[in-house]
Amino acid sequence: MAAEAHDPLVLLLELTRKLAREATLEESLAVVTDAALPLLGADHSSIRLLDEDGLALLCGARSGLGKSGTVPTFAPNRGVVGWVVAHGEAVRLDDAPLDPRFEARAEQSFSVRSLMALPLWSAGRVIGVLSVSRGEVGCFDDRAELLGSLLANCTVPSIERARLERLAVTDSRTRTFNRRYLVPRLEAEMARASRQGSPLSVLLMDLDHFKQVNDDHGHAAGDQVLEGFADRVRTATRAQDVLVRWGGEEFVLVMPDTSEELAAKVAERIRSHVAATPIRVAKGADITQTVSIGTATWAPGESAKSLEGRADAAMYEAKRQGRDRVVSA
Ligand code: GH3
Ligand code: MG
Ligand code: MG
Repeated sequence: MAAEAHDPLVLLLELTRKLAREATLEESLAVVTDAALPLLGADHSSIRLLDEDGLALLCGARSGLGKSGTVPTFAPNRGVVGWVVAHGEAVRLDDAPLDPRFEARAEQSFSVRSLMALPLWSAGRVIGVLSVSRGEVGCFDDRAELLGSLLANCTVPSIERARLERLAVTDSRTRTFNRRYLVPRLEAEMARASRQGSPLSVLLMDLDHFKQVNDDHGHAAGDQVLEGFADRVRTATRAQDVLVRWGGEEFVLVMPDTSEELAAKVAERIRSHVAATPIRVAKGADITQTVSIGTATWAPGESAKSLEGRADAAMYEAKRQGRDRVVSA
């Protein structure tokens, strides 16, 4: 019996081979969502992985229709995916919009009729959800659900290993990387910049008068300002830029493929976006936060420590000049 390319066994074997290779968390997730399309006959698939508390999205991937759209979001107890996380059970719908748990998303560019969402279980917990959909009704049968569960189960060990590695270098409050991650990642980016002859820049960002925010609004509000700041930086930067919480209210942004001029432009975009969009905290107050930013561009041969030091010195110069500004090293 000759195996065919779309034979589920061949697809699953190929998937487990790919997952066994060294890959980032994002790459591993994309391998799974890519495989889900032919395996289950879906036109869209996505994975959402949850953070330590199971309340927020750590990482996501999507394949098929809408692949280039916004990455999956997650809200506890909202939509079919929220239901799957809360109940730990699979959901299979022949016509999703007829189900009260289904929430249509206005920004979604493709139609969802048949929908299947499967929990990813590890060590007695739901760590994420694999979803597949199709624009026609009644596409997923019992066999598709079995295959989907098999796909989910043989995927979990690799994904969970990558998820735990990621959690160890993640700051849970701001969902940025933590300090432990900075130097190894910076060194990897330096090696890549050397190989490719591409520029590499970093920003060091320190919130202005942040102690005053805690004093005026309380520590919990301060925490929310830190989250809001990280969200604003993510909005103003590209997916390949790496945001690291360096210390309490200090962040580093590593920007591959970024020249000195571009780094200054991005820094200014972040500075103005942060200053222009007050952060709403739970108590109802809108807090206007500003940030001082130092930029530095890697000189071939320079150490990570030296690059950080130059960005830090530029940031201090920005403080000295009056804060809410960008200074280039
Ligand atoms: P400057 O403009 O000179 O940077 O002033 P600043 O007040 O931002 O700087 P300073 O270093 O005096 O204070 C930093 C404050 O950040 C003090 C500390 O309590 C607060 N902070 C550090 N980490 C956290 C955190 O995780 N949550 C909250 N709410 N506050 C934090
Ligand atoms: Mg500081
Ligand atoms: Mg500060």
